[in-house]
Amino acid sequence: MRVAALSLAILLALPLPAADRERIAAINVAATSLVTFVSCAVQARLQKKSLTRRDAARCFGAGGVAGVGFYQAKRLAARGDITTGWLAANVASSIVENTAAGEHPLSRLGYTFGPLRLRVATPLDRARESYVDIDVSAAETVFLARAIGTADDIDVRDGMIWYDTRDPIVEGDIVYHGYTWGIFPGVWRGADQFTPRHEAVHAVQSLQLDSIEPPLLTFHRSRRAVRLRHIRAGALNLADNIYNANALDYEDRWAEIEAFRLTEDREPPR
Ligand SMILES: [Zn+2]
Repeated sequence: MRVAALSLAILLALPLPAADRERIAAINVAATSLVTFVSCAVQARLQKKSLTRRDAARCFGAGGVAGVGFYQAKRLAARGDITTGWLAANVASSIVENTAAGEHPLSRLGYTFGPLRLRVATPLDRARESYVDIDVSAAETVFLARAIGTADDIDVRDGMIWYDTRDPIVEGDIVYHGYTWGIFPGVWRGADQFTPRHEAVHAVQSLQLDSIEPPLLTFHRSRRAVRLRHIRAGALNLADNIYNANALDYEDRWAEIEAFRLTEDREPPR
């Protein structure tokens, strides 16, 4: 685990805006591996279990695989295969969630639609307490409300909820051709072909952040076909949103560096 922490530190020490695709891939793998381990440790502590050396290795390993998945999901979205990218991101999220909860990495396959995440049991789920677990995200509920507030129209396509605007979105002295609230991408009607892809990458980033956070509330175990399972705060996602918007210039935000590099192979404009 020291190796993962160290490699992440080295990767982050290099100037980020110049990051090429290989480095972005490496950062996705190292960071997802590390945070999956942290999420495993936190959830084990909440369940009053101890994390064995073997558990730790499993968390790092599954986290690394999920990191590859998230990177591929963003690459797919960036080149216009948004539906496939969104599905890949959902599988990667499932691996992180299941592993961090101490389950088999593929015990459930989740799909996020709006503020709800439906998690369907696979044959690898040993507990088999339900067919479908439903998780609700508080942060994504807020983001959906913000998206609806900004939107001139709402649309379901590519397996996700999009909004569009008649005019570009102005915030301070920046004019945006697209703006993504959480997992809800928004695009100005006059924007170029790269904008929807760029915004879809942001939606995948948001799903990635949501997956690593332990649930705020877990309901009692009960056996039924469909059940409400977790309330997720999405505090990481909200904190990231607020921190990025207030503390960093646009061109220094990691989410922008990643989205510009994957979509148009360039640095964010200054
Ligand atoms: Zn952006």
